[in-house]
Amino acid sequence: MREKVSVIGAGTSGLIAARDLAHAGIMTRVYDQKSRLGYPAKASGIISINGLESLGIRYHKAVTNTLYGANIHAGGATMRIISRKPQAHVLDREKLNLVCYDEATAAGAEAELGVKVIGEKIEEIHKDSVIIGADGPVSAIAKHFSMGSIKSYTLTYKAEYDMNVDDVRTVDLFFDNNLAPKFFAWMCPNSKDILEVGIGIDGKHGNSKAAFEKFIRMKGVAEKIDGARMLDGYASIIPMQTVRSVVDGKKEVLLVGDAAGQVKPTTGGGIVFGGNAARMASKVVAEHIRNGVSLEAYERMFRKNFGLDIRLHSFLNKIYSSFDEKKLGFLINMAKTLGLESFFANYGDMDRPSLMLKRFFLRGLAK
Ligand SMILES: Cc1cc2nc3c(=O)[nH]c(=O)nc-3n(C[C@H](O)[C@H](O)[C@H](O)COP(=O)(O)OP(=O)(O)OC[C@H]3O[C@@H](n4cnc5c(N)ncnc54)[C@H](O)[C@@H]3O)c2cc1C
Repeated sequence: MREKVSVIGAGTSGLIAARDLAHAGIMTRVYDQKSRLGYPAKASGIISINGLESLGIRYHKAVTNTLYGANIHAGGATMRIISRKPQAHVLDREKLNLVCYDEATAAGAEAELGVKVIGEKIEEIHKDSVIIGADGPVSAIAKHFSMGSIKSYTLTYKAEYDMNVDDVRTVDLFFDNNLAPKFFAWMCPNSKDILEVGIGIDGKHGNSKAAFEKFIRMKGVAEKIDGARMLDGYASIIPMQTVRSVVDGKKEVLLVGDAAGQVKPTTGGGIVFGGNAARMASKVVAEHIRNGVSLEAYERMFRKNFGLDIRLHSFLNKIYSSFDEKKLGFLINMAKTLGLESFFANYGDMDRPSLMLKRFFLRGLAK
């Protein structure tokens, strides 16, 4: 049995895993192909406050804004879900990565940056280490150990605009299956003077930059960014399904984060699911090295804690993906008539729809 752990990928998932393992006294080394971690930030950083707290990161110095809710636009209708309490923070992704790096190395994890781990290098590392693959959506570790490939992706493009943002408390989400098939477009106040504009489209539907250009010409969007300076724009991808198996116990290899497809299929948010999975993986690996506990416990733990929520997110994604603009508009107007704006504002949970339903029924029974 191997007694060391090598974490491949120093994104948030890999660094959280490395931090927890090092805390548990396990010899841990984290590798990343980049020398400057988290740069360029091709992803957004909207993360629920509850979710952030669950990761145990001292994230505060990476916060650039705080959100109270969302305007959801579809088929000419708008639903406003605004809570009295802050719901999410927007974080600077490079700073968040650095906070996670500092925590992992302070806990005792070693880091080797600027090293791409593929082919023979994987074999060399695997000789004496349990491997945690945290190497993102196109994982060399998942491929090397034949742990199943992710076939469903969202292609994204996002850019920041330097401008005065009038409403910093709300994010705008645009659902339109012609423009953003199976996903959505967004405008997010990253701070009072940076507005992020982005779009995601189903991987089978071509070019996310072309979709982005169409989106920024749309009425309501074009006026908003008119005259603002566009900063760098980036294309990226989001995995939309989990891999067949997140662990191979015999080979002592585990996958966490985007490498495992541990992402919400509605919003593409992966920091909370991936980070929590990384914590579970570390716990099981530490128990495996110390007491011989089976690594397969990680798969069971992950599915038990997040399986239902992933299925609920997937179900919601399937519903809105199958509707045309007219039906989406009708759905939004119906939801407003039924008073769902305040329902979501009171009971909503960005990450865990199962908790939202639980809270609603428990309060209903208590009345
Ligand atoms: C446009 C966009 C918007 C998003 N918005 C949000 C959001 O608002 N909130 C949210 O929670 N999530 C969001 N996400 C998803 C989120 O960014 C990911 O789920 C998260 O980054 C996954 O973290 P990770 O550590 O698993 O993988 P990554 O962040 O991809 O990190 C993987 C690391 O592995 C390294 N690596 C890869 N291959 C190798 C190799 N062979 N050898 C060595 N190193 C390697 C990479 O350099 C990288 O540092 C968004 C994603 C996109 C694309």
